[in-house]
Amino acid sequence: MERTLAIIKPDAVQNGHSGKILDRILSEGFAVRAMKLVTLSKTEAEGFYAVHRERPFFGELTTFMSSGPCIPLVLERADAVAKWREVIGATNPADAAEGTIRKQFATSMGENAVHGSDSTENGKLESNYFFPEHVIVANS
Ligand code: ATP
Ligand code: MG
Repeated sequence: MERTLAIIKPDAVQNGHSGKILDRILSEGFAVRAMKLVTLSKTEAEGFYAVHRERPFFGELTTFMSSGPCIPLVLERADAVAKWREVIGATNPADAAEGTIRKQFATSMGENAVHGSDSTENGKLESNYFFPEHVIVANS
């Protein structure tokens, strides 16, 4: 079993897609181990995406991510990182495959509905950015 961090981003929450995305998460065989609704401060968004701080879109990205409530979730299943990246699709919705969450719900490269960790290591670090280990529900 592996864990990854997903975020239902502010655009998807605002547009009323959270329920459909959560349904997709469950139907793809992920167990939800932690979940909350939270509006990030600009500083929290900058901390989460610190790896991108030198990129030209950093300001736009962190302003968007702190623009309204989002839903971080710790997801667990076999091969969770790769599977979740497959389900969400390419960063740019114009390149996202048919049937992916970004194809269905993303409106632009910046406002692309969902986040997924890009490695097992980052899955752990990013999960703990939102959820200390003791609030992540153990495998039953
Ligand atoms: P995420 O980390 O959110 O799951 P990703 O791993 O597919 O997305 P990254 O390269 O990590 O893509 O970029 C992080 C986020 O920054 C993207 O999801 C997107 O919202 C934003 N982003 C990336 N590239 C651009 C760009 N060229 N212009 C505007 N926003 C961008
Ligand atoms: Mg990324």
